[in-house]
Amino acid sequence: MKNNCIFCQIIEGQAPSEIVFENERVIVFKDHLPRSPIHLLVCPKTHYSDFLNTPPEEVTYLFKVCHALADKLKVESGFRLMINNGALAGQIVFHLHIHFISRVKELGAEKLDLVIK
Ligand code: AMP
Ligand code: ZN
Repeated sequence: MKNNCIFCQIIEGQAPSEIVFENERVIVFKDHLPRSPIHLLVCPKTHYSDFLNTPPEEVTYLFKVCHALADKLKVESGFRLMINNGALAGQIVFHLHIHFISRVKELGAEKLDLVIK
């Protein structure tokens, strides 16, 4: 937990968020300024500042979560994954996250029961 990190605060339940999935390793919540009908942020529960400072096996796990999201949401016809690394790329929250974005459908309020393989 990094005290001044908004995503660590969300993970600790100290800041509001709309969580759609979490387990011991990862949390997935809705972006509060969505740029698409589905705009989720996939974050490790461990604080890593950015992609370049994250162990590759953790990045691999996050992409497995993205795969499970695509399966569960049935958005195989169109979705985007994005990581901004560094301020000049537009990174504003320095806790690693993958944007999972799709305009194929709206997302409901329900939690997702993901199967991560
Ligand atoms: P970036 O660091 O540019 O990859 O993107 C950070 C994303 O986090 C932006 O799309 C913000 O809208 C989103 N964001 C920032 N604070 C919160 C928050 N408290 N809850 C949900 N999403 C957030
Ligand atoms: Zn953090």
